[in-house]
Amino acid sequence: MKKLLLSLTGLITLSALAVQFETGGPECKITIVGGGPSGVYTAMRLGEKHGKDVCLFEKEKKLGGRLNDIRKNPESEKGPLIAIGGRRVMNSQKLMFDLANELGVKLERPAEKAGEFLFARGLYSSNKDQFKSRYPGLPIDLKKGDFETQLLMKLFKSPERKKIKSYPSLRSYIESVVGTVGFNYLKDMSRFRGDFTYPLNAESYLDWLEEEFDVCCTAYYAVGGMTSFVKGMEKKAKSFGVQFFMSEPIYSINRDFVSGYNLITSKKSFDTEKVIIAVPPVALPKIKGDVVDSIIKQSEFKSLIGIKVATVTQWFNKAWWKGIKRLSDNKTIWRAVTTDSCINSIEIPQEPYLINAKAIRTVYSDRRECAEHFAFLSKTNPKRLEKEVHDGLKHLFEENGITIPVKVSHPTKTVFKEWKAGWYWIKAGSKHTNKDVSTWAANPLPGESVGLASEGYNPQRTAWTDGAIQAAIYLLNKQYEMNISL
Ligand SMILES: Cc1cc2nc3c(=O)[nH]c(=O)nc-3n(C[C@H](O)[C@H](O)[C@H](O)COP(=O)(O)OP(=O)(O)OC[C@H]3O[C@@H](n4cnc5c(N)ncnc54)[C@H](O)[C@@H]3O)c2cc1C
Repeated sequence: MKKLLLSLTGLITLSALAVQFETGGPECKITIVGGGPSGVYTAMRLGEKHGKDVCLFEKEKKLGGRLNDIRKNPESEKGPLIAIGGRRVMNSQKLMFDLANELGVKLERPAEKAGEFLFARGLYSSNKDQFKSRYPGLPIDLKKGDFETQLLMKLFKSPERKKIKSYPSLRSYIESVVGTVGFNYLKDMSRFRGDFTYPLNAESYLDWLEEEFDVCCTAYYAVGGMTSFVKGMEKKAKSFGVQFFMSEPIYSINRDFVSGYNLITSKKSFDTEKVIIAVPPVALPKIKGDVVDSIIKQSEFKSLIGIKVATVTQWFNKAWWKGIKRLSDNKTIWRAVTTDSCINSIEIPQEPYLINAKAIRTVYSDRRECAEHFAFLSKTNPKRLEKEVHDGLKHLFEENGITIPVKVSHPTKTVFKEWKAGWYWIKAGSKHTNKDVSTWAANPLPGESVGLASEGYNPQRTAWTDGAIQAAIYLLNKQYEMNISL
């Protein structure tokens, strides 16, 4: 009874609020909250059958979410788009290739297979095996080579894997199997240091890593950036009559005894029969109402942990990086990874669409302390941020002994982006597997027409757009009688 009274009070308060908004809201039988790739995908697929009965609400003025391509001059329609979020698809991601085909998105690959190098423990090298001497006692077979793969295979095949559920964290599992030295080697050789420093669940991470190990091998880039996928899906959805509401966040979702659900946005209150929530876990608790309350209190939701990620994109008058060639074989370098500075990893686009763009991603870091440090500097002292990035680039490229030295110039524009949760894992201590979470998300409130579609609810494919689209497909197949193959 107390529960009923509370929800009635909630309804009264919200309907009182509603009178301040537009009246006669849109006719939406199915409402999608969030216009990232997962939300726009559901709009496109549902639009084909339900047309204008489908509505999508996006809080920002553009679609795409963590797929976000920008121009040097945001006011202009000219000049290439470069990503401050997601950038590539891999050739084994069939889902993305099929989608590109369907939408007419052009995928291209770099003309040359460029190289990369790494700085760790005082050494620069393009060959990870050469770092072995800096990690005495590494449990590897010297004769077999490819030490990083050897260590990963131990993690996959160790008899300890059978007991992995009993390990309190990923770190504890890795250290048990390959020792602290193996843990440090793997952390330093990876450009994703967050994986090794956040308290992650060992079983979930290993399941992901084993699948990720098979994500193969060549990176492809969408002409116009990954938002070309989103624009293609939007166009198709609109051709079916789907209604898009931009710059209109959803503030609350409440059950409505008559219509199904009542939603309040920044502009209106309206009723709907079914709801697809395509916002990531970090954004979900910001939506009020009894529907979200019932979801976020569940253990599957509580088991998710977001990783803070920072990117810095910089434009220059001169493409100073063009002269960076490996001394040993004159190969172009497209990526450098460092433990020396908060740059963490830099990426020089090689695909034809961006090769002459005079813009590069100078920072890509999932190290929490670095993302926080740069976020602080970007607000309080952007010149200092530029200086730290410049110093880090000089350390990487001006005198490393493995590439032709180049003089790093100063940028004409710097864009810093902090992703409060760039991607998601399952926390240490959770009892849930990746499958538990994605199955739950497709139907988190049994008997109700509410589902979750976003990369964060698909930990088996975390950090990838194909993971977001898969989550959307799980939901469409489960709740909308679709039969979309993966
Ligand atoms: C730095 C970085 C690099 C990446 N690199 C790659 C890559 O190379 N390749 C790749 O495939 N993937 C990459 N990804 C991952 C990819 O960007 C994500 O998997 C994908 O964008 C997730 O899509 P989504 O729809 O689940 O969520 P999101 O993209 O986060 O979209 C959610 C949307 O919901 C909106 N929203 C939130 N709250 C509300 C509300 N209350 N009302 C209305 N709207 C709301 C948001 O504004 C947003 O538009 C990268 C991600 C990051 C951060």
